[in-house]
Amino acid sequence: MILFLFRQGYFLHSLTKEAKKGYLKSIGGMDSMDEKMGEVISDLQSYLEYLKGMGIVSLPTSERKLDEPSPSRVITLEEVRKELGDCKRCKLHRTRRTIVFGEGNEKATLMFIGEGPGYDEDVQGRPFVGKAGQLLTKIIESINLSREDVYIANIVKCRPPQNRNPEPDEIQSCNPFLMNQIHVIQPRIICALGTFAAQTLLKTDTKISALRGKLFDLEGIKVIPTYHPAFLLRNPERKRDVWEDMKKIAELIKNPALRTEL
Ligand code: URA
Repeated sequence: MILFLFRQGYFLHSLTKEAKKGYLKSIGGMDSMDEKMGEVISDLQSYLEYLKGMGIVSLPTSERKLDEPSPSRVITLEEVRKELGDCKRCKLHRTRRTIVFGEGNEKATLMFIGEGPGYDEDVQGRPFVGKAGQLLTKIIESINLSREDVYIANIVKCRPPQNRNPEPDEIQSCNPFLMNQIHVIQPRIICALGTFAAQTLLKTDTKISALRGKLFDLEGIKVIPTYHPAFLLRNPERKRDVWEDMKKIAELIKNPALRTEL
């Protein structure tokens, strides 16, 4: 429908003045054209309401941009890692032990993105290896996948001191590297773990309780936020919600086309 509107607009725009007059006359004049456009817009509104009712709250703005070749496109994760180097782009480098780049399948369909490394991750240089990480491993296995099948990364790659939230300048410094990882991996689905990852990826300040389980779009990739495993350790009664979200992800993996019940 959106495509139709664009095509119609483009078609009219591309006509000469005379041809435009002729075309409008042939379809019954400008009034009739306005009426038809009004109907299309009203149909489009109903369709968007229908999608919203199903939890689809954003639409891709274009065909998958990630497929478009770009002269600066980084080809492998190794290259992204090399470009990151011994990063000192933000103040987190002063207190970190290790850069936690991310790990997993370079061709993963599903990517998990958390907030930032904690103590264990900082020591080991691997994402989600502490208590919350062990729970994430179980969550991944609950849909018959392993850590090796998916890719796991964080919004920031260095541990914030005392596990405080990453600050805007730190996120900004790290973001191009995370985006490059996403561009290389081209996952079909990103599961955003917790408030911080969801709000950062989706550029929103909506609460995680309102975001979780819904489908969003990031450059043609489906983003589904859920609760962070560390939150689940403190609130085990919320595990049921995460299980529901994981079932949606499993369905999406099986059926790439958007399913109406999601
Ligand atoms: N919490 C996160 O958000 N990321 C990790 O890697 C570990 C804990």
